[in-house]
Amino acid sequence: MTKNIGWATSDAKTPLAPYPFDRRETGPEDVLIDITHCGVCHSDVHQARDEFGGALATQWPCMPGHEVVGTVAAVGERVTTHAVGDRVGVGCLVFWGDESQRGVAEEQYQVPPAVFTYNGNDPVTGEVTLGGYSDQIVVHEHFVLKIPAALDSAAAAPLLCAGVTTWSPMEHWNVGPGSRVGVAGLGGLGHLAVQLAKARGAEEVVVLTTTPAKREQALALGADDVLDMSDDDAVQARSGSLDFVLSTIPTPFDMKPYVELVAHDGALVSVGMLEPTLPQALDFGAVSQKRVTLAGSLIGSIAETQQVLDFAAEHGISAETRVIPIDRVNEAFDEVVAKDVRFRYVIDSSTLRS
Ligand code: ZN
Repeated sequence: MTKNIGWATSDAKTPLAPYPFDRRETGPEDVLIDITHCGVCHSDVHQARDEFGGALATQWPCMPGHEVVGTVAAVGERVTTHAVGDRVGVGCLVFWGDESQRGVAEEQYQVPPAVFTYNGNDPVTGEVTLGGYSDQIVVHEHFVLKIPAALDSAAAAPLLCAGVTTWSPMEHWNVGPGSRVGVAGLGGLGHLAVQLAKARGAEEVVVLTTTPAKREQALALGADDVLDMSDDDAVQARSGSLDFVLSTIPTPFDMKPYVELVAHDGALVSVGMLEPTLPQALDFGAVSQKRVTLAGSLIGSIAETQQVLDFAAEHGISAETRVIPIDRVNEAFDEVVAKDVRFRYVIDSSTLRS
């Protein structure tokens, strides 16, 4: 008789299905969480379908989910930062790469790499980590976030991956008053990036899209302007006008028009894309002429994850969500891929137990 139930798959072609299993025992520094909500991230789809390859090739079974919100059900004897009954979250990371990394500022950039919430290797059992598409999770207290009272649980979930993934580069590149910001793509990440950049005090936030129909949505989120990237004249008219362009486009794309928009000493930073892209998509003449920084950024640290939760609560920022029962998750996967949905699907985890 197993203790836990989740939804998982054992190969890239088979949809997720109920998967009984056992979470590890709650260790002295661990927190046991009864999960109430879990966001559906584009990475969940890539992992379940084994589309990353390389170091991120899928280990089976694959149980995705790294936008986890729930309630503390038990704590180990040495836990000091969380108590039974607290509303908490778990994002993309559940342990350091090794014990020597305790106390580092940026858990996500260490060698060996930190343990991912799913498709990592559990530091205690050595088995593949299973994510938040489940009824409970056991996580070391350092990697458990506090959910501020002002945030709704479902709307808070996407902040744990999508939110911090856009927040972290804004911290690193000091986006704030005076910044002229472009946000490419208005999906799950982009719609949070627009709100966060505005609330950080950016002088101007421009949504860069090839779907002009998204104009009204972008303005409603607080964007100052919307630029149709398929309109060469419109792009030329704004040449060199943005200090910081954050691309949330999840698949390889022609970066040349985006570089065109970047100002002297500005940056084009890609998040949410973890696959090779063609060198033809770049013109290093244009990059060099303006000393543009081309960069990528990977999720965010645990401290930054807490920061973005607190900031969102303070500024009334939340993800747009659609709460679904677990048995709609395979459909949600297809829609995330096909429709570039702006809102985030969030699983009502109570439906796992029924
Ligand atoms: Zn994610």
